[in-house]
Amino acid sequence: MSEIANNRVARVHYTGTLPDSGEVFDSSEGREALTFLVGHKQMIPGFERELMGAKQGDKVEFTLSAEDAYGEHMPEAVQEVPTGMFGEITPEVGMTLMSDMGPFRVTAVNGDTITVDFNHALAGKSLTFNVEVIEVRDATEEEISHGHAHGPGGTEH
Ligand code: ZN
Repeated sequence: MSEIANNRVARVHYTGTLPDSGEVFDSSEGREALTFLVGHKQMIPGFERELMGAKQGDKVEFTLSAEDAYGEHMPEAVQEVPTGMFGEITPEVGMTLMSDMGPFRVTAVNGDTITVDFNHALAGKSLTFNVEVIEVRDATEEEISHGHAHGPGGTEH
């Protein structure tokens, strides 16, 4: 039976929790299993590393440091901008909006001053994953040249 290795396609079910609170931040439960091409930077770095060598049917639990997940929270990516920058939109705490510089979240509204955060919502957090390996197969040449997995749960095109 093949094991998870570079240039193979893995299908997994996973649940991600915050180790401090136990809060589930993402899960494939009730959805199609996550399908990814291993070794092509489709996943956060620690996720693939921890799954290397796992086989179909294996259940793996691991906790990643922020560095191995979505990176450290960078203070310089938090900015204060005037409310006029939002045009028609009334900024509210918790909104995620798109800009030329990528997505950002509104983290505070203080009169005409809006605090926005360009960090990933999970930056600076260590993350626990419970993963069940559903299938491991060799990737096709086409998948390797595209840099992603095809088929159910992968890229459909
Ligand atoms: Zn493709």
